[in-house]
Amino acid sequence: MRRNRKAKIVATLGPASSSPEKIDELFRAGVDVFRINMSHATHEGMRALVRTIREVELRYGRPIGILVDLQGPKLRLGSFESGSVEIAPGQSFVLDSDPAPGGPDRVYLPHPEILEALEAGHHILLDDGKVRLEVTKAEPDRAETTVLAGRRLSNRKGVSLPNTVLRVGALTEKDRKDLEAALREEIDWIALSFIQRPEDVAEARKIARGKVGIMSKIEKPQAVERIEEIIEISDSIMIARGDLGVEMPIELVPGAQKRITRAARRAGKPVVVATQMLESMITAPVPTRAEVSDVATAVFEGADAVMLSAESAAGEYPVLAVETMSRIAEQIEQDQLYQQIIHSQRNEPESTGADTITAAARQIAETLHLAAIVCFTSSGSTGLRAARERPHVPVIALSPVPQTARRLALTWGLHCVVSADVHDVDEMVDRASRIAVEEGFATPGQRIIITAGVPFGTPGATNLLRLAFVGSDGLSGI
Ligand code: PGA
Ligand code: MN
Repeated sequence: MRRNRKAKIVATLGPASSSPEKIDELFRAGVDVFRINMSHATHEGMRALVRTIREVELRYGRPIGILVDLQGPKLRLGSFESGSVEIAPGQSFVLDSDPAPGGPDRVYLPHPEILEALEAGHHILLDDGKVRLEVTKAEPDRAETTVLAGRRLSNRKGVSLPNTVLRVGALTEKDRKDLEAALREEIDWIALSFIQRPEDVAEARKIARGKVGIMSKIEKPQAVERIEEIIEISDSIMIARGDLGVEMPIELVPGAQKRITRAARRAGKPVVVATQMLESMITAPVPTRAEVSDVATAVFEGADAVMLSAESAAGEYPVLAVETMSRIAEQIEQDQLYQQIIHSQRNEPESTGADTITAAARQIAETLHLAAIVCFTSSGSTGLRAARERPHVPVIALSPVPQTARRLALTWGLHCVVSADVHDVDEMVDRASRIAVEEGFATPGQRIIITAGVPFGTPGATNLLRLAFVGSDGLSGI
């Protein structure tokens, strides 16, 4: 089974999509990576989903990625005496450390670290940005503010801080427990929410000890400002436009999306564009034209993956949403402008053996109109470098390590296959030819190009480039 597109699809599982039948259907419709959201899933629920996904994987013999998304430090207000209060722009309002129920001019903020970090002039956004406060006077245990916008505040609304860097790690107690539970399962990626700085990624990376890839969700302006360093320390990036659009003016999000996509591509790390891509499909079988354009923009930009959240987790049309997303990506990738746009963003290879060899492989494959690039990659790093080239020709990533094939399922254009180590060049060429035919990328008589590292079976850099004919028996001709 092969997909007819380079961009990958991440779909969030939830009440609308947790049965084994639905997960099977979603995979067939085009999902490459399933996302489990720990803001909603229990540990038992997470384990059941992982089991079901691995059964689907076995049924179709195709590696599937699993992403477990940690909730992160989602900050909330305390409660009000009467459940909610009316406020008005211009009035003053106090946030303090007193757990007593709030009233018309004050409320408890159960996060001492926020009160410590606030400074006069900082903005506080409440209830997804519907209420905006500006700090006028900051003390260690209270902040006086002026209401800039908003009419009403109710219990336990979310708090966003666009200007304030908090002195807390990105992992909460709940995140640590969820992370430990997730690491006991066969999962491939952990997503970290609300990170503010590179150090926030380090802690999770230490706990994960290379067992899973670390995806940093960019949903705070503080993270956008330090994006290069965050990409450097992460294995992949999610542009989490939902919270990002609350924490910064929404009209700044598209520019940030473009810059982050390009920075991640330059670094050769997968980047996922997320949230509200086909939002109206939560309740309608057809998306808006604007949503189609939004998916198209991400695909034209060469994003590794596009993501569905509520559309697949809680909507009325999860399978249709995946099919629609898949059709949009397939069509855009055949658009007459697509190649030109993708190529104009290509980055020079770095001066390493793996990079120069994969760059040469792409050039040869495109010049000779080869059927496929076959890339032997054990850790996955050469697979990522091959994808960074964004070749027009299909790329098959062969790995003896199932975890590598699953993790690479997120990456642009890689068709991943688990295949045992080879021992010599003849075996390498035969294996590559046979798989290219079996997986539907080549027919006998066509040529492929292979990249690998010798000596075989020892982890090391890619240092071999081989052009080969596919013979009539599917093995190599020459
Ligand atoms: P969430 O992250 O769905 O966990 O909130 C995505 C986003 O904020 O866009
Ligand atoms: Mn979010």
